[in-house]
Amino acid sequence: MRVAIIGAGLAGLAAGCELADAGHAVVLLERRPWAGGKAYSFTERETGEHVDNGQHIAMRCTTAYVRFLERIGSAHLVKWQPRMRIPVFDAAGRRSVLRADPLPAPLHLLPSFAAYRHLALVEKARVARGIVAIMRAGERPEHGSRSFGAWLRAHGQSERAIRDFWDLIVVPALNCRCDDASAQQALFVFREGFLPSPSAGAIGVPRVGLGRLHVEPAARYIEAHGGEVRTGAAVERIDVRDGEVGALLLASGERIACDACIAALPPRELLDVLPGEVRGGPPFDALSTVRTSPIVNLHLWFDGPVADFDFAAFTGCDLQWVFNRTRIEGEAGVGQEHMVLSLSAAGRFMPLGKQQLRDLLLPQLRRALPAAVHRTLLRCVAIKEPAATFVPAPGLLRPGARTPVADLFLAGAYTDTGWPATMESAVRSGIAAAAAVAATARTSERRQMAPVA
Ligand SMILES: Cc1cc2nc3c(=O)[nH]c(=O)nc-3n(C[C@H](O)[C@H](O)[C@H](O)COP(=O)(O)OP(=O)(O)OC[C@H]3O[C@@H](n4cnc5c(N)ncnc54)[C@H](O)[C@@H]3O)c2cc1C
Repeated sequence: MRVAIIGAGLAGLAAGCELADAGHAVVLLERRPWAGGKAYSFTERETGEHVDNGQHIAMRCTTAYVRFLERIGSAHLVKWQPRMRIPVFDAAGRRSVLRADPLPAPLHLLPSFAAYRHLALVEKARVARGIVAIMRAGERPEHGSRSFGAWLRAHGQSERAIRDFWDLIVVPALNCRCDDASAQQALFVFREGFLPSPSAGAIGVPRVGLGRLHVEPAARYIEAHGGEVRTGAAVERIDVRDGEVGALLLASGERIACDACIAALPPRELLDVLPGEVRGGPPFDALSTVRTSPIVNLHLWFDGPVADFDFAAFTGCDLQWVFNRTRIEGEAGVGQEHMVLSLSAAGRFMPLGKQQLRDLLLPQLRRALPAAVHRTLLRCVAIKEPAATFVPAPGLLRPGARTPVADLFLAGAYTDTGWPATMESAVRSGIAAAAAVAATARTSERRQMAPVA
């Protein structure tokens, strides 16, 4: 089968690998001059530094993404923790650690939580009750229509516990606050990532840029299996006739014919390329309500070491998660130190320019990490992703891989994988769409082979 995939983000790349491997003729059409979508590397114009559009992490529970890396031969380029271990600093630089110990779940979290210094005793008791409630919550339809903030309050959590503990985890995991996320999505994160075993929450950080980690190897994999990855190939319209994809019309005027098409596009971009009569019907009509949330990354290069960790979370200040790229890349102690300050649910940071972000965040970093006080800041790069992820809001409807157009399939982190907007969700969605295409191909083969009565 000739399969056209629109969008070379992780969803499109994962679908492409899957289908090319199964012997289908794959053509991947990407609007931008490079592949990777929301997870790519580039050379910053002003400084000449090679950076990622955003610091990305994986977790041991993100098994589809890990298998994808294994398939394309780059799993060794991720630095894994044996078990979850997150240093947490407060604004004054006092350090605590949230850690999984080698104990049966959920006791694995107990020792570090008991010693955790950034919550008052009364809040700790509340949070412990909240964790027990999560373990007992099960999956209920009403969790989809209620916010996690409301769920937490109904389970005895104070505003302080929500701000100082629950948001510390939910904001980086879901890129929105507890009050903006559905209870279903937040409960999923705790159930999959933090509570099932000491290793599920172990964090993996790429040792190399995302381009080297997954974009280039995935494109090579597709090409080595007879497929084609075309960048600078913007699809302007999916031409639908008699309930089937007639052709894809590119901005260049070219028409691409295919037996099946996977649209691995974010919801807005998908609506832009669908004909009006298709766009107005389910499941597409619900996509205009999908909201997005921004992420800002501030890269800082110091003239020497400032931090003894690979990454850490921060509470009680504007800093959220800070990554030490120099250590992660195995180059600590050889000179400059490259830190990335990653800000999720970053709406209030979006209007700030690079200097303003630096003036706001650098003093806070120096207060929390005294070693940075004696170091000179050499360079600074700010990267803003205005529509980094979808918001898993209460009531959000996520479409599946199949659509009412027989040979049009959907992929993308926003589809109904159950996972939040992650690389895991993107890869799972690509694999699900590829499986749906393959099943359709088998059905039509059987139909062709069936004797005519
Ligand atoms: C700053 C940042 C930090 C993040 N951190 C993490 C993290 O730590 N861990 C994690 O798991 N996830 C993280 N994510 C989320 C993760 O990157 C995304 O969920 C995932 O990459 C989305 O992949 P996708 O293929 O679904 O969509 P996209 O990556 O959006 O891919 C869609 C592709 O379609 C292309 N396209 C659009 N319109 C057209 C058209 N008309 N014709 C052709 N092509 C078109 C786009 O250019 C794009 O390449 C982060 C995202 C950002 C932005």
